Amino acid sequence: MKKIFWQELRRTEFEEAVKADAVVIIPVGSTEQHGNHLPINTDTNSCFTIAQRAAQAIDEFPVLVLPPVWTGYSPHHMQHPGTITLKYYTFVDLLSQIATCVHAHGFKKILFLNGHGGNSPVIAALRTKLAAEEGVSVIGYTYWNISPTDEVLEAVSEADKGSIGHSGEAETSLQLYLQPELVDMNAADWTLGVSGDPTKGSREKGERIVNAAVDALVKLLRNYHSGKLEDALVWRREITTEHINNDQFPKYRSEH
Ligand SMILES: [Zn+2]
Repeated sequence: MKKIFWQELRRTEFEEAVKADAVVIIPVGSTEQHGNHLPINTDTNSCFTIAQRAAQAIDEFPVLVLPPVWTGYSPHHMQHPGTITLKYYTFVDLLSQIATCVHAHGFKKILFLNGHGGNSPVIAALRTKLAAEEGVSVIGYTYWNISPTDEVLEAVSEADKGSIGHSGEAETSLQLYLQPELVDMNAADWTLGVSGDPTKGSREKGERIVNAAVDALVKLLRNYHSGKLEDALVWRREITTEHINNDQFPKYRSEH
């Protein structure tokens, strides 16, 4: 039986995965308040589940999923109970060191799959830092932005106009589908710290969004593995360890 969880592999299995040019997913979530009706692990649960399902769906090459990073950058949620945030540089260092270790074992294709809006700009900037300072090429995506997930989000949305919001229609739907036992729909109402309309959440919408995100991620992983992902190619071609050691940075493309 194929293994997808990084923590279940033995040493020789890592060597085999490197030889097969495995793609490694680092799910990045948060532990932050999600209104009065959703559990605090909402973001971690969503991105970790999507990563697992995509990894399971691919047989042509190995996809490994790390244990999810369960805390992220959420200072804006600290005013509500339960939130655990890292400080900015702690978060940057944590992600950098995890990615650098994965890379050190020979993996060349590493993807951060993010589940929390507040993490997105940090991860985007981190890619440059890792490439320039560590010679480590990674890609980073937030699950609801991988096309066409955004279109499905919009198509199923009755109230929130396709926005992921925060604990609104979309996230409530996801959690009603993924871990309904932790959702209290009697408390699903707008309150401070909620963005969007939780009352419009439904299990069916959640299932459609999750399926779309898994399909989109599967496609992305295949393109990444085959080298078709233009963005990743640009990074690998233009910045190498040799450039860094010789202090010869290639000119960045203007659109990046
Ligand atoms: Zn969330």
